[in-house]
Amino acid sequence: MIKDTISIKINKTQNSRIAEVDWDNLPFGKVFSDHMLVMDYKNGAWQEPEIMPFGNLSLHPATSAIHYGQSIFEGMKAYRNDNGEVMIFRPDMNEKRFAESCERMCMPVLPEGMFTELISRTVDVDRDWVPQKDGYSLYIRPFLFATDDFIGIKPSDNYKFVIFTCPVGAYYSQPVNVKIEEHYTRAAEGGVGRAKTAGNYAASLYPAKLAQAKGFHQLVWTDAKEHKYIEESGTMNIVFEIDGKLITPSEDSDTILRGVTKRSVVEIAKHWGIPVEERKVTVEEIVQAARDGKLTDAFGAGTAATIAPVAKIGFRDELFELPGLETRTTSNKIKKYLTDLKSGAIEDEFNWMLRF
Ligand SMILES: *Cc1c(COP(=O)(O)O)cnc(C)c1O
Repeated sequence: MIKDTISIKINKTQNSRIAEVDWDNLPFGKVFSDHMLVMDYKNGAWQEPEIMPFGNLSLHPATSAIHYGQSIFEGMKAYRNDNGEVMIFRPDMNEKRFAESCERMCMPVLPEGMFTELISRTVDVDRDWVPQKDGYSLYIRPFLFATDDFIGIKPSDNYKFVIFTCPVGAYYSQPVNVKIEEHYTRAAEGGVGRAKTAGNYAASLYPAKLAQAKGFHQLVWTDAKEHKYIEESGTMNIVFEIDGKLITPSEDSDTILRGVTKRSVVEIAKHWGIPVEERKVTVEEIVQAARDGKLTDAFGAGTAATIAPVAKIGFRDELFELPGLETRTTSNKIKKYLTDLKSGAIEDEFNWMLRF
């Protein structure tokens, strides 16, 4: 059931593009479904949202988000179960994080429940775009940006909230090679690392490019002050397995994005009685465990990939190869559990899926 409490103007397309989609070949984020939702914020209030045919936005050249970066986003997925129902994974978590990003970036917060309702009603209009195939889903991209047409640094008075969606296939097909980064940083304490704000991703491109030139797919970020503690990997949270325990950097520091996937992994593991440690994780202990052959697993956790196993970890001049994927019993089991939950194959015991 979805809520239907907000008045939304709905203008459906006369020219659906759905028949043109090559469902067997869906590059991530390049195919867009028929509609998008746009809602303006002006005069201190949210205006009536409109669901309209997907298309370009027209912007003033001084649009402040472009110059000064007041821009935040979310990423989540809708799935289809065997009964043809659409299911969204834990949208309340994304709603909460979106509100936190708004606060940090001085942007207006949506009234409680509005984010989730607008998302579900936008997805509902394009529900035929939610793929049923294994590993496939409808990626949902809500975002909010400042639209004052004014050159000056202050919180904008005007904003645009937009939701569009993309049918997507599986994200990473291969396990990833990561490099522990000891010079560049993603986020510093007191900064905006916990917010899903545009500039964080722009800042990560250059160090990621340098790592890619050395054959790595992603970086493992360390703390800005000492490069002694592990934070996350690329745009995913990171989890390690040593001595049968899952170990992951705690989210107390405001430098780590609070991922819904990582939170779910932790909750599932605890529910199954698997020991989980959320604490500061040093580079030293991970590297030492890898040297000793005790690092039995490492994986990224994020909406796009769900669980992305790490194949190799680079640290200075060393390169550690982790055990084969077939040996990674715990993360394989958690991944299967999440996949089954999202396809509706198992009971939703945590009540995580919004279904309609
Ligand atoms: C989005 C994101 C994650 C993963 O969060 P999920 O809610 O699991 O998708 C992790 N780290 C960063 C930097 C992110 O932007």
